[in-house]
Amino acid sequence: MLSPLDPIALQRLLDQVAADAPSHFGEGKVADYIPALAEVPPDGFGIAICDVQGNVYSAGDGGKAFSIQSISKVINLVIAMQRLEEDDIWTRVGREPSGQAFNSIVQLEVEKGVPRNPFINAGAVLITDILVSRIMSIHWVLREQARRLAGNPDINFDARVARSEMDHKARNASLAYLMKAYGNLQGNVDEVLDLYFHGCALAMSCVDVARAFAFLANRGVSPLDGSVVLAPHKNRQLNALLLTCGLYDAAGDFAWRVGLPGKSGVGGGIVAIVPGQMSICVWSPRLDTYGNSVAGLRALETLVNGLGVAPLG
Ligand code: GLN
Repeated sequence: MLSPLDPIALQRLLDQVAADAPSHFGEGKVADYIPALAEVPPDGFGIAICDVQGNVYSAGDGGKAFSIQSISKVINLVIAMQRLEEDDIWTRVGREPSGQAFNSIVQLEVEKGVPRNPFINAGAVLITDILVSRIMSIHWVLREQARRLAGNPDINFDARVARSEMDHKARNASLAYLMKAYGNLQGNVDEVLDLYFHGCALAMSCVDVARAFAFLANRGVSPLDGSVVLAPHKNRQLNALLLTCGLYDAAGDFAWRVGLPGKSGVGGGIVAIVPGQMSICVWSPRLDTYGNSVAGLRALETLVNGLGVAPLG
C-alpha cells in the first residue's frame, strides 16, 4: 500500500502507468459516429490526480485538452443540483442503472419518456432541458462552471465538435422528441440539444478534469479554493449515482474492476473518485463496445491496485 501523501512514489506510479499504456493501443476504436472525434489520433494517453489538498500529479499527455463528452453530464447535473429543488429534477429523471447502451431508445419508450438516470444520453438531454428552461445565459453558466471548478479560465467549447454533433444529431434528437411526445421534455429540441452538445464539446485536459471533480472526493468542498460546490448529502448522492450509473451498461463491471464512482465519455476520458482522498482522470481515445476507454480502464485498474485504495473494502 502506498500513501497518497508520498508525492515521489505517487509520481513514479503515474509514470509507470503511462509507460504501460501503449501496450493497449491496439485495442478498441475511436468514436467515429461523431466525425470531429474520428479525427483524433487514436494512440494517446494522459493521466492526472488531484488530491484533497489540491496537489496535482500527472503523466503522459495529462495536460492535453480532449473532448470531455459525457463527463459534461456531471457538470450539468451539478448545476441542476446546486440551483434547483430536488423535485424539479427527480420527478423527471430516475436514479437507476439502465443496463442499456448510453444512447439506447428502447427503455425510454417502455418507461414513457422518463429516462432511467441523468448519465445516459436521454437523461442528460432531459437535465439540459431543465437547465435551459430555468437558467438565463446557460451556455455561459456552463462554461463558467467548468472554468471555476477546474480553476482554469482558458477552458472553452470546441465549436467544431459541437457543430459536428449537431450535424449528426439524429439519434439524440430522436430521444429528445420521444421525451417531448410524452410531455417530459418541454423546450425546443434544437435549443436543448445545442446546450447538450456544447457541454459535450468542452475541451479539458486530465489535469483540468481531475481538479474540477476533486470536490467529489472532499465532501463537496473544492480543494482549490475552499468553496462549497455541493452540500455533503448531495455530494454523497452524486457519488452514489456515479458508482451505479456512471459507466452506463458497464457500471457493474467498472465497480467490479475499479471499485470507484466514475464517469466516462466517448472522447476517451474517464474520471474516478476516491472519496476522502483524490480524483483521478485518465484519457485515451480508443473505446470498447460500451463507449469506454480501453487503455483508460486498464490504467485505472493498475492505479487503484498500486495505490491500494479500496473504499468498498
Ligand atoms: N456527445 C455524445 C453523444 O451524445 C456523448 C456520449 C458519450 O460520451 N457517451 O452521443
